[in-house]
Amino acid sequence: MSTFLGMPATAPRGVGHLRGDESFPDAARKALGNEQLRRNLAHATTTIRGKSGAVVAELPDWQELRSAGSALKAATMARLPELLEQLEEKVTAAGGVVHWAADATEANRIVTGLVRATGHRRVIKVKSMATQEIGLNEALEEAGIAPVETDLAELIVQLGHDKPSHILVPAIHRNRTEIRDIFLREMPGVDPALTDDPATLAAAARRYLRETFLSTKVAVSGANFAVAETGTLVVLESEGNGRMCLTLPDTLITVMGIEKVVPTWRDLEVFLQLLPRASTGERMNPYTSMWTGVTPGDGPQEFHLVLLDNGRTAVLADEVGRQALHCIRCSACLNVCPVYERTGGHAYGSVYPGPIGAVLSPQLTGVADNASLPYASSLCGACFDACPVKIDIPSVLVHLRNEAPHPRAERIAMAAAAYTMDHPALYARAQHAARLSRHVKRLPPPLNGWTAGRDLPQPPPETFRDWWAGR
Ligand code: SF4
Repeated sequence: MSTFLGMPATAPRGVGHLRGDESFPDAARKALGNEQLRRNLAHATTTIRGKSGAVVAELPDWQELRSAGSALKAATMARLPELLEQLEEKVTAAGGVVHWAADATEANRIVTGLVRATGHRRVIKVKSMATQEIGLNEALEEAGIAPVETDLAELIVQLGHDKPSHILVPAIHRNRTEIRDIFLREMPGVDPALTDDPATLAAAARRYLRETFLSTKVAVSGANFAVAETGTLVVLESEGNGRMCLTLPDTLITVMGIEKVVPTWRDLEVFLQLLPRASTGERMNPYTSMWTGVTPGDGPQEFHLVLLDNGRTAVLADEVGRQALHCIRCSACLNVCPVYERTGGHAYGSVYPGPIGAVLSPQLTGVADNASLPYASSLCGACFDACPVKIDIPSVLVHLRNEAPHPRAERIAMAAAAYTMDHPALYARAQHAARLSRHVKRLPPPLNGWTAGRDLPQPPPETFRDWWAGR
């Protein structure tokens, strides 16, 4: 008897944050009207670009490092199942427990069950884009468990009942007055005389988080990397909140996308150079935490690793699109993207914004559910140049545009164009007809959408055929 395993599934609807409520053009139009947002974005992306450019320029072998990172990721994806099984074996041997989650619903059920089993009703969280992707906070709250984000920007987003809008700087869309108002409204025990001075705001968050760290027994984290060879998990961060979450609680639950595995310890040498320089513009990030299973008497005594698919296997099945799984979430592509710089992250609808979001989200959900995202780009190629693991985002965007469902009018127009070009006499007549319409600026319905945001190219006064015939 044989078992039919089926085709790789995309991320399920109705759970998590991979699909927006409206298309990218509609959401972008609203975002473009927000001048404060555009000022914040321009300032932040320009600053990060400058810092990153300076430290990248220090490394004479940056291009070789990028190539090494790209090759390592491609080699990892080529034997992902084997590496994941090796990781499971090593984590288990070191005292951890590995859980396999096919999708967001299953991952939420596993984590909620694990927290319930501890008897505690509050968790601290760090570095967890994967948990935002699956909507874990909502699942925990439904189960009567309070999640507390400990990264300062993510805490601002959580207290503001908001969504992150940047991978690295999730509250990039907020200014300090808005942050003070959010703290005054939502942060337990905050000083009512709180000002919008940045140092004072940081001190208020630190006081609140310190109390929370010391009184919470369960933590949920993401992971930047997991080493198959040793079973070691790695988290890079800048505030020290990660170190607190990963060492103080009794129970640690890590939710990690299956693409984060790397084969060997030595491979970290490449990624630990690439990530901080491309991301925060630092030579080395302030905190790098690594742990392998459980160490008696030191750190959490119960460790669970949840390996999340949620559409990743479907991405892996696409030979062009699978390079989106190479992403190390540095956000460099966001900071150089002229589209992201103007619209911000919310317009992308998904927890993954910017150029990487435009190629990753449609693949995780199936292109039909995020059909406008592959068009959220001018195809200028800046993202490709900036990417530390050389993901060719423009090529994947074009590939996904071909896969996206096209409107009926466009399909009819393309079929008519193909037929015309296939018949030389008809093509010649069409060229003459086009010349007669030289002063037309807009196409009539149903093709008027195409010229709503573009100028209609004017046909030349003389066609090549006429010119040729004249000689
Ligand atoms: S696609 Fe490349 S540049 Fe963009 S976040 Fe991922 S690793 Fe960074």
